[in-house]
Amino acid sequence: MTAAAEKTDILKIAREQVLERGVGLSQEQLVQVLTLEDDRLEELLGLAHEVRMRWCGPEVEVEGIVSLKTGGCPEDCHFCSQSGRFPTPVRSAWLDIPGLVKAARQTKDTGATEFCIVAAVRGPDKRLLSQVRDGIKAIREDGNDIQIACSLGMLTQEQVDELVDMGCHRYNHNLETARSHFPNVVTTHSWDERWETLQMVRAAGMEVCSGGIIGMGESIEQRAEFAVQLAELEPDEVPMNFLIPNPGTPYENYPIVEGAEALRTVAAFRLAMPRTMLRFAGGRELTLGDLGAEQGMLGGINAIIVGNYLTNLGRPASQDLEMLADLKMPIKALNETL
Ligand code: SF4
Repeated sequence: MTAAAEKTDILKIAREQVLERGVGLSQEQLVQVLTLEDDRLEELLGLAHEVRMRWCGPEVEVEGIVSLKTGGCPEDCHFCSQSGRFPTPVRSAWLDIPGLVKAARQTKDTGATEFCIVAAVRGPDKRLLSQVRDGIKAIREDGNDIQIACSLGMLTQEQVDELVDMGCHRYNHNLETARSHFPNVVTTHSWDERWETLQMVRAAGMEVCSGGIIGMGESIEQRAEFAVQLAELEPDEVPMNFLIPNPGTPYENYPIVEGAEALRTVAAFRLAMPRTMLRFAGGRELTLGDLGAEQGMLGGINAIIVGNYLTNLGRPASQDLEMLADLKMPIKALNETL
């Protein structure tokens, strides 16, 4: 590389700006990262890993997830097998309280610190909220002190307050994609409605968890736009999913994001958000295979979901935990996060 080229080299700039100063990359800078040649991927992942170690440390947060209410959702998110509007094989089902308590105990036993209760709904109704309240109470009565997160769709202020009262410490609500691309993905509600819920969650003192799905027909510019919008939200955690083209959904024939592209995107999101917890969520095995999980952990990721990802099977928890041990990445302990 010539001296002039080195001056404008995006990885060199990112090293000084993100690694040294902790300032995330701009949208224009992220486009440059997302279009880097494959032969610079290793260098990019190395930098993303250094950024993660410098600004987040070596710990990895492990989370378990359970579906309290599956399928039959009235919304039309085009990627989602739980929408009742598409002919997917997912059927509507509820998990009972003993099932929830058992899932929470199993999650705690893996060493996870976070247990997320998820429901496929536009927003919670009275029945769902009272089920969540009873569920949290039963988990505590079981002697389980795991931190509880919820993902129940869009909320009113009253519902936000109710969740705080129940002891929900983190709320997940994904922005899913860039604001400019959202109307192509969902037509039954807006990106701004999702944003409003997240603002209320933050103001009420719960931790904010919000991410999305890569590979839904967005352009490279929109991927960069999305990363910058997430950075602006300043979430505590960003779950990154890669599209699983679920049968019956409008996206069933979309191509799977290729491994190198997925890793480049993970690294770019790390360079946009040096301090945020970046979590590997759904679609990981499909795009990256087993080895890719390891590459991601060395390329900016510092949190994982163990076990099942709602309706798509992930690999067994033990495999992920072994991988973390091999990589000498300690699991974040519960008492550190309280
Ligand atoms: S609101 Fe959630 S569960 Fe419902 S269709 Fe959209 S992503 Fe799926």
